[in-house]
Amino acid sequence: MQIPIFDGHNDSLHRLSPYTPEAVESFFTQHTEGHVDFPRARTGGLAGGFFAVFIPSASSTIVPPPMEVIITETGYEVPLAPALDRATALAATLAMAAGLFRLEAAAGGQLKVVRTTAELASYLEQGVFAAILHFEGAEAIDPQLDALEVFYQAGLRSLGLVWSRPNHFGHGVPFRFPHTPDIGPGLTDAGRALVRACNTLGILLDVSHLNEQGFWDLASLTQAPIVATHSAVHAICPTTRNLTDKQLDAIRDSDGMVGVNFEVSALRPDGYDEPDTPLTVLVRHIDYLVERLGIDRVGFGSDFDGATMPHELSDAAGLPTLLVELQQHGYDTQSLRKLCFENWLRVLQRTWKS
Ligand code: ZN
Repeated sequence: MQIPIFDGHNDSLHRLSPYTPEAVESFFTQHTEGHVDFPRARTGGLAGGFFAVFIPSASSTIVPPPMEVIITETGYEVPLAPALDRATALAATLAMAAGLFRLEAAAGGQLKVVRTTAELASYLEQGVFAAILHFEGAEAIDPQLDALEVFYQAGLRSLGLVWSRPNHFGHGVPFRFPHTPDIGPGLTDAGRALVRACNTLGILLDVSHLNEQGFWDLASLTQAPIVATHSAVHAICPTTRNLTDKQLDAIRDSDGMVGVNFEVSALRPDGYDEPDTPLTVLVRHIDYLVERLGIDRVGFGSDFDGATMPHELSDAAGLPTLLVELQQHGYDTQSLRKLCFENWLRVLQRTWKS
């Protein structure tokens, strides 16, 4: 099945850092650790995706798990990570964004950073690996939004206002299970200004790590489709990181989309971080999203290199297993093309300015 797969979220930039020449080279060599390298992407039909600049909180080992998890009677709680200071965040962001540009430079034309939807469409067509520069949290951006302008010119096309911690713009959702995402305050005035600025520039706004109040604050303000790059269904797996039916309806009404997260603890009804999780559980989320949002508003948002994957989909090379599973479950080629890349392209065409 030769359908290119464009993916809503990976943490490969974080996994590869710091960007020594060896680290850059390692991306182009096949490995067994981690989930994404260039050879495994080719094997699995992974044609590109959103490359997140993720900055771990200095005091913890947030990614990859284990996080500081407190087991409760019914599930777990992760203490909200502390805010980052902007100087630290800016330095780390520059280092990781530079890492992506170094990968591009080393790729000999086989990997390119995408700035327009015409580029994305043509790279998918030509088989050039297409990378979107995404920030998972806006800590590196100053309240005057000067850095936003500069990062936009450099190639930033997607931004999550927050990761799961507070910052100047809003409050990330703490990881908790079982719990609703309605936990904590919403966007600040600076956060609202950032939403407006992203709308003006044509930067996609990702709601994946917002709490519910932040989600509604953004939803009431944004003029773009509402997008969750890597989230799943709260009705199936009641973690704070997943989307309630009401949130899904708002995403549908905005003609946005959800990239379904493959992280097992975001999929399993019991919330366990257990890789021995059948793909049928992931398919159940995809079915639910398709039913609620329509086949035009669902895609993949793997969280490769940032989360525990199901055994059967243990890295990018395993993606064909998922497509076969979906095909056997009744998804025809036209539907699979939408899930694999057409929906991402459509939403970006409605969001970016070019
Ligand atoms: Zn994330």
